[in-house]
Amino acid sequence: MTPAERQIIVLKLDHRPERDKRLTTHVGLTARAFGASGFWTSGLKDLNISETIHQVSDQWGNQGFEVLTGINWRSSIRKWKEEKGEVIHLTMYGLHVDNVIPQIRSSPRPKLIVVGGPKVPFEVFKLADFNVAIGHQPHSEVAALSIFLDRLLEGQGLHLKFPDTTFEIEPTPHGKRVKESK
Ligand code: SAM
Repeated sequence: MTPAERQIIVLKLDHRPERDKRLTTHVGLTARAFGASGFWTSGLKDLNISETIHQVSDQWGNQGFEVLTGINWRSSIRKWKEEKGEVIHLTMYGLHVDNVIPQIRSSPRPKLIVVGGPKVPFEVFKLADFNVAIGHQPHSEVAALSIFLDRLLEGQGLHLKFPDTTFEIEPTPHGKRVKESK
């Protein structure tokens, strides 16, 4: 399956605007850049997050990336499962990614990828179809999500062509070259 054929939503739990603005934005931008189709956050609603990510989409390509903040994680996860999607929670306590990724990749079901914060409710571990560890050391939501998406999409996430873009980079060994196309 190509990334475009998959429905992949990333859910970041318990966003707190004062404390997490930068980190949550980076999780959302990572989701967008590496092949997800949307980004949701639970916790407090924060329009700055959606605005920043939509601005990036306006400049660097708009593939219709959905951003929702302030959602209720419990009802969203339950609804996702009722609608036959599968839930993958990234946690250092889960099964090693190398042992479960073939099974996860082979299923065409829409995927809700959940990343946490300092304290993830135990209910999330129970609701998840897969609790997946990107190694068993603590690191970060951004690192875990990057590696998971890269493994899931077998590297295709790094070669996506974004439609409707204002800027496009012309790779160069030194310096910066950007083509403006609107
Ligand atoms: N104790 C946490 C855990 O369960 O992975 C680490 C907390 S870390 C500050 C915040 C989030 O980063 C976690 O909720 C998880 O989504 C992600 N994370 C950190 N290390 C991870 C790892 N080794 N494997 C998978 N996810 C990880």
